[in-house]
Amino acid sequence: IRDYLDAWYSQNCPNALALRQRAKGSLVASTHLDRYFFPSNYPVFVEHGAGARIIDVDGNSLIDLSCGYGPNILGYGNRVAVEAQQKTAETTNINALGHALEVDLAETLVEAFPGSDLAVMSNSGTESVIHALRLCRTYRPRARYVVKCEGHYHGFSDQAMVSSWFRVKGETADPEPVAGCQGTPQDVVDNTRVVQFNHPRSLEVIRENAADIACVLLEPMQAGSGKIEVNYLKQLRELCTELDIPLVFDEVVTGFRVAYGGVQTLAGVVPDVTCLGKIMGGGLPAGAIVGKSHILELGRTTGDPFRDYEERAFLGGTMSGNYQSCAAGLAVLRHLKANPAIYQGLTDKTAYLRDRLTAAAAVRGLNMNLKAGYSMFSVSFTHKMPKHFREALQGANFKATLALAYLMRSRGVYMPELHGFLISDAHSMDDLAHVADAFESCLDQMDG
Ligand code: PLP
Repeated sequence: IRDYLDAWYSQNCPNALALRQRAKGSLVASTHLDRYFFPSNYPVFVEHGAGARIIDVDGNSLIDLSCGYGPNILGYGNRVAVEAQQKTAETTNINALGHALEVDLAETLVEAFPGSDLAVMSNSGTESVIHALRLCRTYRPRARYVVKCEGHYHGFSDQAMVSSWFRVKGETADPEPVAGCQGTPQDVVDNTRVVQFNHPRSLEVIRENAADIACVLLEPMQAGSGKIEVNYLKQLRELCTELDIPLVFDEVVTGFRVAYGGVQTLAGVVPDVTCLGKIMGGGLPAGAIVGKSHILELGRTTGDPFRDYEERAFLGGTMSGNYQSCAAGLAVLRHLKANPAIYQGLTDKTAYLRDRLTAAAAVRGLNMNLKAGYSMFSVSFTHKMPKHFREALQGANFKATLALAYLMRSRGVYMPELHGFLISDAHSMDDLAHVADAFESCLDQMDG
């Protein structure tokens, strides 16, 4: 397969290979390029996006399954977002000054998420989580721990990354915290209590350590896990209410994707704070938290800087709530709200693609773990169907998933490497049929 890929890429992607070589001289890392867990000899450099497709710098047209890791729920170059961006670009991008669109967006977000009273703007999902944790620590000033679930990703801040990636430690039922990468202060790791999502022991750990817990942070549905564990979320909600521990849902990916009001709307479980990002920026950088006033008010100034220092959390961000991100985000959110059929369409398309991919593996007798739900997918090859993140991590054949991703490109599909994949409203049934055909042909090539 390596020989095939080397030949295919050198023939079809000379500009991308040259750009990658150039990039090595100036660019250490960005989201797609050479992150330490999957350095790629087969780079993608995009020239432009159109609907469900990306056109790369060599003119290859690929059906895109990344959706930019989430924001592009309407597809690339969608008129709704583009027109909003063009209009506001002409008036300059107002930031660090008040404007009406920021208030409109705050009202839209608060209205979308049941039980939330107020919003705080930021520039990314990572920043949303930072804001959320700081507010919760202000609410519970004597508490030492943030509780988080093993394998749940909450952006790249020190604490958010604890036990979120490829390194795990301790028992499955009772994990030990481990730094997400080098450069993480040990005290941040020590101040994190890691539990296993949807495991009964996690509830005991929270109860046993209640006085020391500033908040419980989790993805209410891990992107690509395919299903919502409603009972577990309800149990967590009850426990956190009983113990007065803020429950924080990270809906950076799922907010406005699984449903307009996120997982919490589908599950009927209301957290105290919700972290948002991705779709709410309409393709531009944006993040926000929404939540209950008794916590979010702790970010509002008292009007006295000395009192603020004693009582309030500082929530920063020069570009937070900037004019263009608000305009693009508002336009997309209004479009989603006015067109609920988009969500039904995504559900139908997800079912179609799931069924075809599952059948493709079954017919070939392959041990494939495909999870799919609400326009989000993940695929791995494993001999044992995993119950928890720990088992999924330990059992998966990452080389096979990587090979699949690279091979798919030679069939006109961009499937992100070692990452869940997503579809958008712009994907047609024909596009998905093409993806499924490509998948079958790649499985045959890998099998051979
Ligand atoms: N939370 C979740 C669940 C995410 O998937 C991500 C990013 O993929 C983040 C937070 C961080 O968001 P950002 O990359 O915008 O900082």
